[in-house]
Amino acid sequence: MNDEAWHFKLFGIVQGVGFRPFIHRLAKKCNLSGWVNNSASGLEIWTEGEKNELKLFKEGLLRNPPPSAQIERYEITVKAPAGYTTFSINASDNNTEGYTFPPPDTGICEQCLKEFSDPKNRRYKYLMTTCAECGPRFSIIHSLPYDRESTAMKTFTLCPVCNKEYNDIQSRRYHTEAIACPVCGPRVWLVDESHNTIQQPINELLKLGKIIAIKGIGGFHLACDALNETTIWRLRSGKKRNDKPFAIMCRDLAAAKEYCQLNAAEIKLLTSSVKPIVLLQKRSKKLPYNITHGLNTIGVMLPYTALHHALFDTKLNAIVLTSANLSDDPLIVSNQAALEKLHGIADFFLFHNRVIINSCDDSVAAVIGSDAIVYRRSRGYVPVPLSMKQEHYSVLACGGDLKSTFCILTCHHAFLSQYFGDLANYENYRRYLKAVSFYKKITKTKPIIVAHDLHPGYTSTAYAQKLEDVFTVGVQHHHAHFASCIAENNISRPILGVVCDGTGYGTDGAMWGFEFMYGDYQGFERLAHLEYLALPGGDTAVANPSHTALSYLYHILGHDGLVLAKALLPRLTNNDITTLEMQLDQSLGVYNTSSCGRLFDAVAALLGLCTTVSYEGQAAMLLEAISYKNDCTPYGYELLGEHYPYQLAVNKAIKEILLDVRNGVAKEIIGGRFHATVSEIIVATVSRLSHEKECRQVALSGGVFQNRILIESVMKGLKNKGIDVFIQRKVPTNDGGLALGQALIGEEVYKRVSRSSRQGTQN
Ligand code: ZN
Ligand code: ZN
Ligand code: FE
Repeated sequence: MNDEAWHFKLFGIVQGVGFRPFIHRLAKKCNLSGWVNNSASGLEIWTEGEKNELKLFKEGLLRNPPPSAQIERYEITVKAPAGYTTFSINASDNNTEGYTFPPPDTGICEQCLKEFSDPKNRRYKYLMTTCAECGPRFSIIHSLPYDRESTAMKTFTLCPVCNKEYNDIQSRRYHTEAIACPVCGPRVWLVDESHNTIQQPINELLKLGKIIAIKGIGGFHLACDALNETTIWRLRSGKKRNDKPFAIMCRDLAAAKEYCQLNAAEIKLLTSSVKPIVLLQKRSKKLPYNITHGLNTIGVMLPYTALHHALFDTKLNAIVLTSANLSDDPLIVSNQAALEKLHGIADFFLFHNRVIINSCDDSVAAVIGSDAIVYRRSRGYVPVPLSMKQEHYSVLACGGDLKSTFCILTCHHAFLSQYFGDLANYENYRRYLKAVSFYKKITKTKPIIVAHDLHPGYTSTAYAQKLEDVFTVGVQHHHAHFASCIAENNISRPILGVVCDGTGYGTDGAMWGFEFMYGDYQGFERLAHLEYLALPGGDTAVANPSHTALSYLYHILGHDGLVLAKALLPRLTNNDITTLEMQLDQSLGVYNTSSCGRLFDAVAALLGLCTTVSYEGQAAMLLEAISYKNDCTPYGYELLGEHYPYQLAVNKAIKEILLDVRNGVAKEIIGGRFHATVSEIIVATVSRLSHEKECRQVALSGGVFQNRILIESVMKGLKNKGIDVFIQRKVPTNDGGLALGQALIGEEVYKRVSRSSRQGTQN
């Protein structure tokens, strides 16, 4: 006779991670009867038996859940036993309230890898090997609960052996919804440009200098031998990608160590189940220059599927692995599109016939201090939400345009989407819209508030303003960056903020980007900013750091500055200079900017590192790469004004840089001193504002803080002054994290407006 029954409800990442088979085995071990099933809100378990055994079961469940599971919260109700004599896995129950978290894609596990390499195993060399604990998840689901019918696996009928494994409690694939084998599962095949099937081993083709399009988990990649400089040039010209660095995939950790410096935290990140691209310091000159050009870091990842492992052999250590799209186009997900769009670029195509439902780029991360920091939050991280302390209204925040992501805030969660790239590209925009519908469906959310950037020209702004029956809020770009940082760090009182960014639309119509503020979600006070620079041409200036450099020279030295520009910026023609001068004199197409990114651009141009850019942040990255990292003496600057916002003038610094350039001081030193200057400006200004505002806490955000030298020296400087520093780690500090801040600010505006309209009707 059973003592009592315990009814568990588990919330979090509890589906698609091998939880039900784990529960069945645990219940069996504890001599309990009852059932387990996936529900709309997570997992439900009914167990009955002796009280001691129930306690043991609960302990085992909470202490050692499956590796990819995350129990966010659980409920237990004690009930009278129903008289079950056995334990069973029941069909999913879709009639419960709430929503659950779709599991993220995870890299292949050790056990699957063992089977893959074991000639005696029936999954030997099976390129689509997965199990209950690893493999694609997010990228193959239509809906939840996580049943085979809701995934891209529904078209594959189980063979008798898989069926036996699925029903065998001893099997590693007991109740694994995505179970597959070489007989019944997705298959992989290689074709040439003319669709002829090829039997030659892939690593041989790679060694021969061929470019191969490979269908992965979240989209197609292009791959080639990372040591073959000629093929890399061919890949660059095919992709129309001049300078932007490529990531590489290394055969294993040992190979990664051969090309890069790795500390313990970086090894942990690189080998984690997420398997992100990790930005690492390059070791010597073992890799061809044209993989990353002038940068001293490189993005490295390890194989994350059986198919990736099969690409390597003992003679092939590393491959370039880059998303298979042309410049700013979206990821390619179908075999047909790959054949059409990559014609003339890829020599061979490695296809499989599992459909990619949710496309997803590789994630990009690095280690700062001793912890991971995520720069592109995609495969492996999404769609796991951030847990919020408070309960929230349903909000859709549309993000920015360039590194677009959106955020759905609902109940106690913020679901930040994967990365979509530039929304100005229509295909990217379509992918974004599709994903908005998907996230709304899985979270069962109908947003009542929609937040967007203030920029009137953004596609995301136009999209937000088109939506009907919602409360729409425009959010200032840098306020959103700041709010994103305080949200990630769970801060609920007003604090100081520093946002160092490319550009964002300001409340005065200027392009902001180096901002000191004080506030919270409800609002912000602009306390200081970089002195405005008049800059001709919007996008043209962003693409041409030499235009920004010339504007600084003209602003500081007048006509002498133009003469100097001619000498220092050889790429500028006389005609360019006359046109820019005319534009500046007559304020034609000129806008004011306080952008920190443009300041980096100008200095990079003055040092001759970069006069035009072909990818975002290029000039600043090249400047960082050459700069001396140890303590350097900062150049001068001034804090001007009696009232907020103070102006930070860098005229002195620019003049001193010009002097150093004339005196032939090494670029490494000038770069080091420039970084020290920006850091000093931040530390000294925050220190002053912290006294004035009586606040010892500051949040740092914005794309410029991806600069390692800068963030490390600012954090050190502020800590020395006794100021608590908050940075972004889980959420990108660049525009990929914007949507989170927008969502929380949008909600506050909505609350304020509805409060005042209630008061209005009461009066
Ligand atoms: Zn596995
Ligand atoms: Zn099978
Ligand atoms: Fe930004």
